[in-house]
Amino acid sequence: MGSYTHFESALIHGGIYGDRQTGAVNTPIFQTATYEQDGLGRNRGWEYSRTGNPTRAALEALIAELEGGARGFAFASGMAAITAVLHLFQSGDKIVIPGNVYGGTFRVLDRVFRQFGLSAVIADTTDPAAFQDALTDDVKAVLIESPANPLLTVTDIRALSEITRQKGLLLIVDNTFLTPYLQRPLELGADSVVHSATKYLGGHSDLIAGLVVVNTQETAERLQFIQNATGGILQPFDSFLLIRSIKTLGVRMDAHVRNAEQVARLLAGHAAVGKVYYPGLPDAQGYEVNRRQAKNGGAMISFELTGDCDCRRFFTGLKLIALAESLGGVESLACHPASMTHAAIPKKIRERAGITDGLIRISVGLEHIDDLKADLIQAIEGARM
Ligand SMILES: *Cc1c(COP(=O)(O)O)cnc(C)c1O
Repeated sequence: MGSYTHFESALIHGGIYGDRQTGAVNTPIFQTATYEQDGLGRNRGWEYSRTGNPTRAALEALIAELEGGARGFAFASGMAAITAVLHLFQSGDKIVIPGNVYGGTFRVLDRVFRQFGLSAVIADTTDPAAFQDALTDDVKAVLIESPANPLLTVTDIRALSEITRQKGLLLIVDNTFLTPYLQRPLELGADSVVHSATKYLGGHSDLIAGLVVVNTQETAERLQFIQNATGGILQPFDSFLLIRSIKTLGVRMDAHVRNAEQVARLLAGHAAVGKVYYPGLPDAQGYEVNRRQAKNGGAMISFELTGDCDCRRFFTGLKLIALAESLGGVESLACHPASMTHAAIPKKIRERAGITDGLIRISVGLEHIDDLKADLIQAIEGARM
């Protein structure tokens, strides 16, 4: 932190600001693979861009500062970031995840890491008793999202961290849905934060990126080794784009949340809408916990239509809101978790977690609220049979 004390200023001035050599107010894009060395064993701090690149380093310093961690790391995607973190563990270790974890996180554990002896154990992290039962001796970490995809389930990060700390487990929080502007898991006791920066941090649906922040130098050194050894790094241009996007994170999130709160109220009051999942609604699961640990409920909303509606017709009826994977961009998106984001999770496990075939998820964008409301209302009316 320099000459500022507020988070909004850190978004703009944090990390390594601008370019000292030229005075450029923006971080230059160091589009280079390698660096000339001054002599054998003598370089200027940079050797090869898989190992380190100044543009990526500026982004990594920025996210570390924003999350309040020791070091940050930038990867080519959220999944590359999560994969790098999972490389901290060994064959025989187990990772506890909730049943409604991001589909790709479940898939990489179940289909890739399991082949190497690292496996996932599913437990309800919102229920301390069920969670404690899952903590056998071979469990080495807990990986959660709060609010979790797609039912916006809130987990008490501080309460969970007290248990993981006592047992010597790593608590990893996927903070994609709220970003450090709305929630800072390391301050709540987590050990590591992961992001799909493709979402709100990027914010414009124009890049794929992932970030990790860890809270100790020791874990940072191990992760730096893994990042260089496995090589799933973020490119200089994409690092620049992400730095550029993060500068407006605060104003974007405020506007996303303003729209989302109105959409949630509209859905909750609509006769053709059944359950509404939004942590910003006072009767939502985890409302109080979320209020304690986050600034607000974010801008993701899931809901079900009543039995006399066809959710397929809802999706084809949307005119402004696009049917698409992903979230967190300026444009509003609707998705069908059962067949899209969570299709990798077996139907049985999915339904047990409450992800029904009629569930609809909305990423509320920055269009005018009246246009969003009108599109939702006409699509819901058209879904009535
Ligand atoms: C999208 C997403 C990921 C995966 O990130 P990619 O950038 O798509 O690889 C991980 N976790 C959550 C919560 C996500 O929404």
